[in-house]
Amino acid sequence: MLIVMDRSATGQDVERVVAAAERLGLKAHPIPGAQRTAIGLTGNKGTIGPAAFENLPGVFEVIRVSHPYKLVSREFHPEDTIVSIGGVPIGGTALAVMAGPCAVESRDQMLAVAREVQRLGARLLRGGAFKPRTSPYSFQGLGEEGLKLLAEARDATGLPVVTEVLDTENVDLVAAWADGLQIGARNMQNFELLKKAGRTGKPILLRRGMSATLEEFLLAAEYVMAEGNPNVILCERGVRTFSDFTRNTLDLAIVPAVERLSHLPILVDPSHGTGRRHKVVPMSRAAIAAGADGVAVEVHHRPEEALSDGPQALRPGRFAQMMADLQKVAEAVGRTL
Ligand code: PEP
Ligand code: MN
Repeated sequence: MLIVMDRSATGQDVERVVAAAERLGLKAHPIPGAQRTAIGLTGNKGTIGPAAFENLPGVFEVIRVSHPYKLVSREFHPEDTIVSIGGVPIGGTALAVMAGPCAVESRDQMLAVAREVQRLGARLLRGGAFKPRTSPYSFQGLGEEGLKLLAEARDATGLPVVTEVLDTENVDLVAAWADGLQIGARNMQNFELLKKAGRTGKPILLRRGMSATLEEFLLAAEYVMAEGNPNVILCERGVRTFSDFTRNTLDLAIVPAVERLSHLPILVDPSHGTGRRHKVVPMSRAAIAAGADGVAVEVHHRPEEALSDGPQALRPGRFAQMMADLQKVAEAVGRTL
C-alpha cells in the first residue's frame, strides 16, 4: 500500500501513520516529496486494507498496489489452471461445452435433452434440481428426485453432471449426486455456502453475481480456494444494466480481464446473458473469440413447454448450428472443440 499524505500534513501526522503501520506489523517507508510525503508500506500479507489508514489525520489517499485476493491470482500461480469435472478438462486448449435444460422437469425431458446434446458434441450436462426462482409460485425444481434423474442421464450418456446447490443444508446431498456444483448468481456472495461447497472438494462452477464487480467475483472464488479447493471455474452470465433489449448484458470484456488477473478458467453463459434464443449463438461465437474456455448453454427439446427459461433455450437443431460455428471460431483462435 502507498499512503499519500495531504499537503498540509505535519511531521506528527506522518509519525502517527508510521506508528499505526508498525503496530500492525508492517514496515513504513516515508518518501518525502516537494509538495507532500508518501509512505510506502511493506510486509502486508493481504489481511490489512486501506481502512486502517484512511481516517488518520493528514492522510489524503491510500493506494493499494497489490490485490486483496491471493490464491486465485495469477501473481500467485502464473500457469493457467485446468479444472477437471468428471474427467472433462476445463481451461486447456480444448473448449468445454456444457449444455442441458435450465431445470430438470421429468425423466423423459432430461433423458431426451441429455441424449441430444451428447450426440451433438456437448462434453458436460447441466440441469437444475434446486431452482432459484424470482417468484415463489414458479416451479422450484424437483429437488432430490431431480438429482437422481441427472445421475440417470449421466449413466445414459457418459456426460458428467453440473447442478446448482442453493443452500448450505443441501450441499452434502447435491455433492453426493453431482460431478460439479454450481453456485448461482444470486448466491455468489453467500459466503457460508461458498465455504461449505468448497470443503466438499468438488469442482465449483461459480457464476458471477448480477451486479458483482470483478474483484468481488474473484474474492468469492477466493473463499472456495481458501477452503483448500483449487477446482474453481468462473462463469460470466450477464450483469444488470440499462439495456432493455436483453435480459442481462453479457459482459464479455471480463474474459480477458480475468485472464490477466487470475489463472482460473472461465466459461460464458450466453443463455442467461441474453435471455433470448436468437442472441445465444452469436454471443457464444463472441465468447470463444474473446478467449473463454467454453460455453454453458440451455437446451430444451420443447422450449415452449419448459418450466423455466424457455425463451432462451436452444432447440437441438440450433445447438448443432452453434457447435458448427464454434468449431470455426475455435480454429481461428487456436483452440479445439
Ligand atoms: C441457471 O443456471 O439456470 C441459473 C439460475 O443461473 P444464474 O444463477 O446465473 O441466474
Ligand atoms: Mn436458467
